[in-house]
Amino acid sequence: MSSTLLALTDAGLYCPTGDFYIDPWQPVARAVITHAHSDHARPGSAAYLATRDSERVLRTRLGADAHIETLAYGEIVSINGVDVSFHPAGHILGSAQVRVAYRGQVWVVSGDYKTDPDVTCAPFEPVRCHTFMTESTFGLPIYRWPPQASVLAQINDWWRRNQEAGRASILYAYALGKAQRLIAGLDPTIGPIFVHGALVRITEDYRASGVALPPVQYVGDAPRGFDWSQALILAPPSAHGTPWLRRFGPFSTGFASGWMRIRGTRRRRAIDRGFVLSDHADWPGLLAAIDATGAERVWVTHGYAAVLVRWLQEQGRDAAVLQTRFEGEVGE
Ligand SMILES: [Zn+2]
Ligand SMILES: [Zn+2]
Repeated sequence: MSSTLLALTDAGLYCPTGDFYIDPWQPVARAVITHAHSDHARPGSAAYLATRDSERVLRTRLGADAHIETLAYGEIVSINGVDVSFHPAGHILGSAQVRVAYRGQVWVVSGDYKTDPDVTCAPFEPVRCHTFMTESTFGLPIYRWPPQASVLAQINDWWRRNQEAGRASILYAYALGKAQRLIAGLDPTIGPIFVHGALVRITEDYRASGVALPPVQYVGDAPRGFDWSQALILAPPSAHGTPWLRRFGPFSTGFASGWMRIRGTRRRRAIDRGFVLSDHADWPGLLAAIDATGAERVWVTHGYAAVLVRWLQEQGRDAAVLQTRFEGEVGE
């Protein structure tokens, strides 16, 4: 254990020297958090350390009583002699890679990350390290993202065409991160933008954290008999096929997700349009990010870990699968 800066325990990734956990899945005394998604930030721990940018969304997720301390990106704090710092992961607002350094050994835990641009969060920054723990949500060579600008143009076009046909546009997206990235990319001159109740608070958190977003209205605030045919309505995927949709009259559904890269996903879910937009790195993004760390050892967590590990090993790298309880969020 002495040479292991981080080890897997029943409660999660643990640093024995510093006596803290990173994204633990059980309540612990001290939790260092990469980002506010529910599989990484779980309630019940006594103390949390996270980035300043993530504080509002984290509090929304963990509750008003949670004890949360924050650091700016790049700021170093010593925990029992172990240097801990956060570096932008480009995944959602406030998302970070955690850098852990002790006696010249540097380990980095990526959390979730993407290398594509996103105006709602700080861009991914490669961090040099000896051991890199990477996610692998889209760790298959088939996953390659089209340029974001063209996907956003497709969404705005789909909205315009729905208006011409007298249909509301229902756009499904993961409530934390993806929805706000989409709002930032919508053209508000086309028509009014509405959000489902599940998105109201988080979107306000983004705005209050300094992210510039066009105005949005809560669906529940629209007057009775409102004509929805000009509107775009953002909703979590769980709203699909529910009675909540009845109020909108005729509508078309779209889903923005990396999973839309696979045609069958859209058909199985009976969605009219799929838009390929992910908050995770695609295959080339993962490989480039891993390369940029210069790491001599790579541990691969949630996603297609076995495939990515085999590919890395074939390139002569020291790579292994790390069995965590992080989940590839299905809406991402
Ligand atoms: Zn995430
Ligand atoms: Zn995750």
